[in-house]
Amino acid sequence: MEKKYKVLLKMNKGGGAKKMKYVLVTGGVVSGLGKGVTASSIGVLLKACGLRVTSIKIDPYLNTDAGTMSPFEHGEVYVLDDGGEVDLDLGNYERFLDIKLTRDNNITTGKIYQAVIDRERRGDYLGKTVQVVPHITDAIQEWIERVAMIPVDGQPGPADVCVIELGGTIGDIESMPFTEALGQFSYRVGAGNFCLIHVSLVPVLSAVGEQKTKPTQHSVRGLRSLGLTPNILACRSTSTLDENVKLKISQFCHVPEESIITLYDVPNIWHLPLLLREQKAHEAILGVLNLLGVAREPNLKEWTSRAELCDMLLEPVRIAIVGKYTGVSDSYLSLLKALLHASVSLRKKLVVDWVPASDLEDETANENPDAYKAAWKLLKGADGVLVPGGFGDRGVEGKILAAKYARENRIPFLGICLGMQIAVIDFARSILGLQDANSTEFDPDTKSPCVIFMPEGSKTHFGGTMRLGSRRTYFQLMDCKSAKLYGNRGFVDERHRHRYEVNPDMVSHLEDAGLLFTGKDETGRRMQIVELPNHPYFVGVQFHPEFKSRPGNPSALFLGLIAAACGQLDSLLHAHKIPNGMAKKISLYQNGNATKFAKIPADGIYSNCNGVHA
Ligand code: GLN
Repeated sequence: MEKKYKVLLKMNKGGGAKKMKYVLVTGGVVSGLGKGVTASSIGVLLKACGLRVTSIKIDPYLNTDAGTMSPFEHGEVYVLDDGGEVDLDLGNYERFLDIKLTRDNNITTGKIYQAVIDRERRGDYLGKTVQVVPHITDAIQEWIERVAMIPVDGQPGPADVCVIELGGTIGDIESMPFTEALGQFSYRVGAGNFCLIHVSLVPVLSAVGEQKTKPTQHSVRGLRSLGLTPNILACRSTSTLDENVKLKISQFCHVPEESIITLYDVPNIWHLPLLLREQKAHEAILGVLNLLGVAREPNLKEWTSRAELCDMLLEPVRIAIVGKYTGVSDSYLSLLKALLHASVSLRKKLVVDWVPASDLEDETANENPDAYKAAWKLLKGADGVLVPGGFGDRGVEGKILAAKYARENRIPFLGICLGMQIAVIDFARSILGLQDANSTEFDPDTKSPCVIFMPEGSKTHFGGTMRLGSRRTYFQLMDCKSAKLYGNRGFVDERHRHRYEVNPDMVSHLEDAGLLFTGKDETGRRMQIVELPNHPYFVGVQFHPEFKSRPGNPSALFLGLIAAACGQLDSLLHAHKIPNGMAKKISLYQNGNATKFAKIPADGIYSNCNGVHA
């Protein structure tokens, strides 16, 4: 088997000879069945069989991308290396498969129509009437074929399998062009290259405790009527399906019993790939894709130990997240995942306390004293405080108070993006005595603008001025917590999504008073990391480290927060100790600009310690 697998890889590298295999995941009955996590887990399972996997998420809404969508309504906006603002499911794929996707891996109705209309304006359709079928449906298929070939795992050449997730529920009006296109696509790529997995629901009626198959039957009938034939059914249910229930579904839906998988409730989502393997989902998929002979038995050792470890953790670490969208945890999904990755790797049970930022404000003390008391009680009970990114002025004063509280009481603190900006505002107000210090985002007329609008492009047009995607941060000294946590690298690449930044003209005043800017961009004008050296852990970052955290490779700064919250930061930093003399050498570059960093090794790594790398 191993040998045959190598043959497949060789075919990939040579290009041309290889045919991409597609796994389409659709959903039926209701939304919220965990289709995204299921699709990611299918990817993990196939990867564990030795295949290279990429993924595409289709969102049938009209927005071009998720950038303009409220996290209230749609969950967090996930940011990619290339600056793509995409659906949070792409985060699941990146985390589960340890890949880096591109903005084109998220297809929306808006993007497809825009491409077709642009083509029409250019006259590419040669006078023809432009229609949903075939022009939109062709554009969808071309897009899928093109994007599936983009390497996403750092290896050259395209992947072996592309997992496509169709958002929404089968039968939705807005997904019709996609279902039509995918029906045509399955025919176009041919049998043996396309596998359709339909995620459905088998509810249990509490009165009789019976597993009901009718919703699944109806949804499969709907799927077939749209020209799509399911190869595998993944049924969400509280417990495993009874044999007679499976038989019934098999008969009514024309899917073999061994291709009916139950997605029963599991204690944590890392069990999902294990659950799929246990029911031999990989054999069913590989069978449909004619890959049985080339793939190996899935190796999920790391997933098994992590999933089991997560279930066993007892000792809590309490982190207060002081934010705006505290009612919807999906609004901070990557943040929660990054906290979880770090806590599990430090053998702690993560407990998140959501603190609505505005409830910490003096105004709430008058208007709603109970909410005020409750918010401060949560904040004061926390082992660590995290202030995440955000837009708009609601709750900003509460966030500033939270940073002040953490700073004065030596509570471990991590401020991300807006969280860093408000930490700087607090410092300017409390330590520099600049009472009206503020960001010009919230007070355009402030006399002490310590955070200002610093667009990379146009200074006059607001649209398209967001600093988005991967940017490099150069450490200004090695003897600081962030540089050590990042494994003593000279620089680190992280993802950004912001317009405002610390005012470079105020940096020297802030530094003189003890707030150190330990990471800057290549010009030295943009402040990327701020630290209080005499605090157990007080770190603010202009970027979003949460987007690059992985279950097996937690984000360095989250690891720092959790370790500090558990009193383990010293031992963690000790593990990252830099060689003697290096700290001195690097500190010569303090406050320097990029040219002074010319001597940094190309890979940015100063030592080979087993640190966490970005
Ligand atoms: N609103 C702030 C800015 O635009 C922070 C953005 C964020 O936290 N993502 O700079």
